[in-house]
Amino acid sequence: MTLAPILVALALGQSDPYVRSRVKAGDATTQCLFWTADRIVWNQDAAGNPGTPGDTEFEAIRRSFRSWQDIFEDCGNLTLQEGPLINERKTGYVRNQENHNVVLYRTSDCHATVSADDKCWDDDTCGNQYDCWDDDEGTIAITLTTYDKRSGIIYDSDITFNAARYTFTTVDSPGCFPPVTTNCVSTDVQNAATHEVGHFFGLDHTRAAGSVMFPSASVGETSKRTIDAGSRGFVCSAYAKGGPSQACMHPAISEDLGPKAGCTATGAGAGASLPLLSAWVVARVLRRRREATS
Ligand SMILES: [Zn+2]
Repeated sequence: MTLAPILVALALGQSDPYVRSRVKAGDATTQCLFWTADRIVWNQDAAGNPGTPGDTEFEAIRRSFRSWQDIFEDCGNLTLQEGPLINERKTGYVRNQENHNVVLYRTSDCHATVSADDKCWDDDTCGNQYDCWDDDEGTIAITLTTYDKRSGIIYDSDITFNAARYTFTTVDSPGCFPPVTTNCVSTDVQNAATHEVGHFFGLDHTRAAGSVMFPSASVGETSKRTIDAGSRGFVCSAYAKGGPSQACMHPAISEDLGPKAGCTATGAGAGASLPLLSAWVVARVLRRRREATS
C-alpha cells in the first residue's frame, strides 16, 4: 500500500523546477549532494576538443561556468575560479593526491578499441586507462562526482564529453542538416556544458519545460545555454548567499568518513539527426549511471 504514494511522488518530482542529486539517485530518504568549499577551482584539459575550430570550445565552457557564476554572485555562496589549462586525462578522485575538477573530451570509443574481456570493464576503469569513452555510446557527456556517502559533501566533479560519437560545435546558428560540419550547430558545447555544470553543483534531472536539467538535447539545440528560473532557484536556496550550503536532511550528518566515488549524472542527452531515431535515443539517455566506482 505504500508503493502508490511513492510512485506519485516520484512522478511529480520529475517535473519540479529543480531536483537535487541524492546519495542514492532519486531516493529522498538519502542526503543531497552539495559543495561546502567556499571556492571551487575548475580546469580544462589543455587538449580541448581537436574537432572544434581554434580555442572556441574553451571559450564555450567558460561561458557555461560564467552563467552559473553570475547566479552565485547574485544570490549564492560559492566562488568559482577557472584554473590554468592542465594535462589531465583521468577523471575521478584519488585519495592523498592533488585532484582537479577537470573538463575533458574523449575522442575515441572504448567499445571499439578495448577488448570486451579486458578487466577494465569490470573495474569501470577503461576510460582512464585507455583514454577513451567507456560509457553508454549514446550519451553526450558525463559528470562524475565524488562525494561522501553519508554527508553528501562533494569532493570532486569532472565533466567528460563524448567526442568519439558527437560533433561538438560552438557557432550560434544555423542548426545542422546533413552533412554535419562545425559551421552549423550540431551538439553545442555551451548547451551541453551548462547542463553538466548543473550536475557539477548537485542538480539532478527534471522534466520541467525549459529547464537546463532536462535530460536530453537535440541536434541544433542552444536553449540550455540560458539558465532557467527553476535552476537559478536551486542556487539561491541550496547555496543561499551569506549562509552555509544546505543539506536536505537535518541534522546534517557531519561525520566525514572519507569520499565515496559515484557517478551522479549522465549526459545532457543524445540528439539524433534523424527523427526516426529519437525514440531509441530517448530511451538510451534515460538510463542513468550512478553506481559506485570504489
Ligand atoms: Zn544530465
